[in-house]
Amino acid sequence: MPPPSDDHTAGQGALFPAEALSPHPEPSPPSSAAARLFDIREIYAEPDAAASPRGRAVLDRFPDARVIEVDSHWRIPHLHGNEGNVERWVRVKTETLVLGVRKTLTVRPNGRSADWIAPGASNGCAMACAYCYVPRRKGYANPITLFTNTDRIIAHLARHIAGQGHKDTPSQCDPKAWVYDIGENGDCSVDALICDNTADMIRAFRGWPTAKASFATKFVNRELLCLDPRGRTRIRFSVMPPEDSRLLDIRSSPVPERIAAAEDFLEAGYEVHFNLSPVVLRPGWDKDWAVLLRHMDDVLPPAVKKQAAAEAILLTHNKALHEVNLGWHPSAEELLWRPDLQQAKHSQNGDTNVRYRTGVKGPAVQRLRELIASHAPWLTLRYAF
Ligand code: SF4
Repeated sequence: MPPPSDDHTAGQGALFPAEALSPHPEPSPPSSAAARLFDIREIYAEPDAAASPRGRAVLDRFPDARVIEVDSHWRIPHLHGNEGNVERWVRVKTETLVLGVRKTLTVRPNGRSADWIAPGASNGCAMACAYCYVPRRKGYANPITLFTNTDRIIAHLARHIAGQGHKDTPSQCDPKAWVYDIGENGDCSVDALICDNTADMIRAFRGWPTAKASFATKFVNRELLCLDPRGRTRIRFSVMPPEDSRLLDIRSSPVPERIAAAEDFLEAGYEVHFNLSPVVLRPGWDKDWAVLLRHMDDVLPPAVKKQAAAEAILLTHNKALHEVNLGWHPSAEELLWRPDLQQAKHSQNGDTNVRYRTGVKGPAVQRLRELIASHAPWLTLRYAF
């Protein structure tokens, strides 16, 4: 791996100062949660994104950041890809943002976590979970790219939702509403620390009675509590045994904090579900999941239990990610890379993914179902795979 380069402007367009752009009134100061995750020093921006109202609001929020013009948020040498960034992976996520305009507006069918995958208002993440698949297209150091045209994304969603009409046949995703995952490639709770993209989406969905937004999160952002989602947004707190999370979920909120937040989010008008994911198989995994489920049973109030459901996803890993992780977080790989338990799974994009072998995975899913039945019988398992 070559040494990291600090020359982030190489191959880029002109540098332009944030103060040269049109002013945007009243930038809000970063919250303490934002201050913990971000120390934004550079913002790569497509010109149209920088000039947009949302782009200007972000730039005003970080007036000391160096702003670097780029042709496309997809192609930023020295930022994307893996070479040179392994040693400074977390620093990139802390210090860098990207502003872009989302050009492809496609709603994809899903059928597992949601009925549909919405075009997201961002991609990339400020957290650094060792198993994360989100960086697969931009490289593993990918910081948050915020799309500044949420108005077009929302208009596209409005047309799609109108085209579906009422949901006449219940699915495991939801009995009545068409569920749209709005956070497939990032964490909407963290995006909400720096701009209104998540708020825009939540506000839009509260006006669509046949649809519901849904996103998974590993970060407790209490600023979301004031958005009044009126039951039209499902927040899915991801949980796993805290010992695993401390090793694997870098920069996220502690698992007990995510569970403890469920009641407040329900009271604020969210539907609150849980993602039991990823389930990482290791000696004693089932005992620790039992402890976690008992903890949820102990601390969650009846109102949360009554509406809660969960999805469970066993770990899928990736050879390229394994090799990158060996460069910055090898102890995570002792848990994640288990050739004795895993088999190759061919992905559509040509990556070499691995998942637990057929004879391992089936019994593990069955064991997890038994644990839920024993320790958290109120928790409806929507699906497990
Ligand atoms: S929070 Fe989600 S998107 Fe962010 S690094 Fe972790 S798994 Fe990836």
